[in-house]
Amino acid sequence: TKVLLTGGSGFIAAHILEQLLAKGHSVVTTVRTEDKAAKIREAYADKSAAGELQTVVVPDIARLDAFDDVVKIPGIEVVLHTASPFHFKISDPKKDLVDPAVIGTTGILKAIARSAPAVRRVVVTSSFAAILDEPKISNPATVFSEASWNPVTIDDIYRSSATAYRASKTLAERAAWAFVAAPPADSVAKFDLVTVNPPMVFGPVAHHLASLDGLNTSNERFLDLLRGKWKAGGVPSTGAAMIWVDVRDVAAAHVRAGLELPAAGGKRLFTTAGSYSNAAIVDIVRRNFPADAAILPSDDQLGPGKLPPADQRFKVDNAATTELLGIDWIPFEKTVVDTIKSLKEHGA
Ligand code: NDP
Repeated sequence: TKVLLTGGSGFIAAHILEQLLAKGHSVVTTVRTEDKAAKIREAYADKSAAGELQTVVVPDIARLDAFDDVVKIPGIEVVLHTASPFHFKISDPKKDLVDPAVIGTTGILKAIARSAPAVRRVVVTSSFAAILDEPKISNPATVFSEASWNPVTIDDIYRSSATAYRASKTLAERAAWAFVAAPPADSVAKFDLVTVNPPMVFGPVAHHLASLDGLNTSNERFLDLLRGKWKAGGVPSTGAAMIWVDVRDVAAAHVRAGLELPAAGGKRLFTTAGSYSNAAIVDIVRRNFPADAAILPSDDQLGPGKLPPADQRFKVDNAATTELLGIDWIPFEKTVVDTIKSLKEHGA
């Protein structure tokens, strides 16, 4: 099957690309620069030479016409749209986060409807950010599930960069569902939508990193730990999300949702293995990497990294997603160990 994967240079997308190619699918992937395109082609030189991997430069997804040409590549049946900013180095939350997320998503859907007749399914990488509701996080009566929606609006984006990011994902996902609920009358493509909604995604790095400082946002905490920042400055708070998933499971969810599970159409997939804490990361590293003991924080520094007690935090119900995907979520210890090993291989 021919698949269009946007943002192929990303942390999650690199794992999706690897799994798609391993399964024999042919992939067109978009990246922002020719330099990134060349790195991907080098990593899969054989597939690239065989025409099973094609790269296309799409410099700015915040332009409504960004994807107009790439979707015209004949034979694309499935689109996996992962490209969207996930970082907090912003000066203008609308321009830097919301526009690329929302315009990128509506732009690609419009382009498909206009000129990609073979597309039958679109998977959009959304987020737990589009599920959670900030004031409900510390309420134990809260159960976040596939049915939950973040009520955030565009007016909230100047509150904090975290809220702005959550709004970017929520508004993009809402726009995607609104589009498929009322597709343009002259649409040439008949496709359905699936969203994948992961919380914090951790795991080994498969994408090209020019330097460790360009590491994706969710893995940064492991780098900070390895660089001794937690020992020097204390273990940071685990953060409001408090739930996680392994990147290889998130990638598998995209592949299954896009290509292998017709029944996923119209569903939001809440991909999570459950709760985690920064204190638990320290414990796992201590047990598995005894040679690194000197850089680890002491037990009396763990406090802020522990989870609040269960009666002060939300619950999760993602049984529908687990069942639909038929997935055994990778356990936290394996993810932490594999992430640390991977970062060390990259020079951490
Ligand atoms: P990365 O930062 O590694 O990947 C983001 C991808 O989007 C990259 O390919 C990046 O391109 C591209 N991108 C970002 N901003 C723009 C822009 N303005 N124009 C064009 N392309 C852009 O992070 P992840 O792999 O983690 O993120 C992938 C997706 O997963 C995103 O949609 C994110 O919101 C979502 N997600 C991630 C979670 C996590 O914990 N990691 C949790 C929940 C959802 P480039 O390589 O050139 O920077």
